[in-house]
Amino acid sequence: MSKNSILVINCGSSSLKFSVINPETFDESLNGLAERLGSAQGSISWKVGGQKQSRPLGKSGHDDAIKALVDLLREQQLMACIEAIGHRVVHGGEKFTASSLITEEALKGIEDCCHLAPLHNPAHLKGIRAVKRFFPGLAQVAVFDTAFHQTMPAENYLYAIPYHLYREHGLRRYGMHGTSYRFVSKKASDMLGLDYSSSAILVAHLGNGASACAIKDGKSLDTTMGLTPLEGLVMGTRSGDIDPNVFSFLNKRCGYSLEEITDILNKKSGLLGLSEINNDCRVIEDAAKEGNAHAQLTLDVFCNVLAKKLAGFAAEMGRIDALVFTGGIGENSSLIRKNVLKRLSIFGFKVDEVINNATCRGKSGVITQADSPIAMVVGTNEELMIARDTHDLVSSLS
Ligand code: ADP
Repeated sequence: MSKNSILVINCGSSSLKFSVINPETFDESLNGLAERLGSAQGSISWKVGGQKQSRPLGKSGHDDAIKALVDLLREQQLMACIEAIGHRVVHGGEKFTASSLITEEALKGIEDCCHLAPLHNPAHLKGIRAVKRFFPGLAQVAVFDTAFHQTMPAENYLYAIPYHLYREHGLRRYGMHGTSYRFVSKKASDMLGLDYSSSAILVAHLGNGASACAIKDGKSLDTTMGLTPLEGLVMGTRSGDIDPNVFSFLNKRCGYSLEEITDILNKKSGLLGLSEINNDCRVIEDAAKEGNAHAQLTLDVFCNVLAKKLAGFAAEMGRIDALVFTGGIGENSSLIRKNVLKRLSIFGFKVDEVINNATCRGKSGVITQADSPIAMVVGTNEELMIARDTHDLVSSLS
């Protein structure tokens, strides 16, 4: 069997997502999730050939999950086709401007960024170390969410706070979803026959986490997420931009601790907090359709914040070759797309209602009329991008 596939791993603090992808044919032969790691109810579930299966892991950590994954790959006779392993890593700080082979130096670099992503980077390191033990001899690659945004100019990444906080602590805007932006903007450019290196593309990545990005000449010029994923757009449970004094207000007036406020803004706000219904956009859309005015208001806030950010980015880029919607909401919600484009009518956007209503996940394409600037839907595939980067870096070794 030829070594034609990449094992893609996304390791969280209590979960580990995995998939086996052929980076050339895009075929995914296996995907799955080990979850509740660290508790007594750990389990691993996977999908192969359309069939879902699972088994309990009991009290288990990242090492046990990787061991269970090795057993699974052996059972499915996939072990021999793994060329290398690609890891999603959330934070690469200023050190990583592109994906990197995992060497001792790279491990140290990821460790040095732990203070920037204290929930994520330590979990990635656990996963990388466990993989090293159970897949000796296979190269590993780190693909960073932040790396694509390292091209942002200082005027876009600096906060207007005492400069020494940046100099001494790296306190600046980094942005996230970079792997998705790279994939989606290049695909949109190819679909439209643009020259990527001189294009101006806006992307709205709208999932449970959401952000937008201005991509000029194939490089990130500006993005809505900041030091952490909390900044920017209204998200499933995150507030997005707020007045930073909300922290002292909630502390002094309501008696919440720092941890409680952080929890409120990250896990109880956004669509969930505002609607008091759900964090899932579908549920809020259904409620709005049934006449729930509060649900409608929540959708209006979501669209308004997004449209204002996109309009600002358009001004920064000077033109819009394409506005791309991606992520669960971007790919599936014709209503959100329509309402955002309506709010951007100053740029001349005119939706093709029939095409927009028929466009959902798995159906990429233009959703605007012929005499409108282009808005389109492109399905994101971060795992494929990680597999491709891993394959490219490993191939360059030989
Ligand atoms: P994540 O950010 O976790 O990767 P996804 O990109 O998969 O999430 O997006 C998940 C979200 O997509 C769901 O929470 C839901 O709000 C939204 N979504 C999925 N399908 C639809 C739909 N048909 N209409 C509106 N929103 C949808």
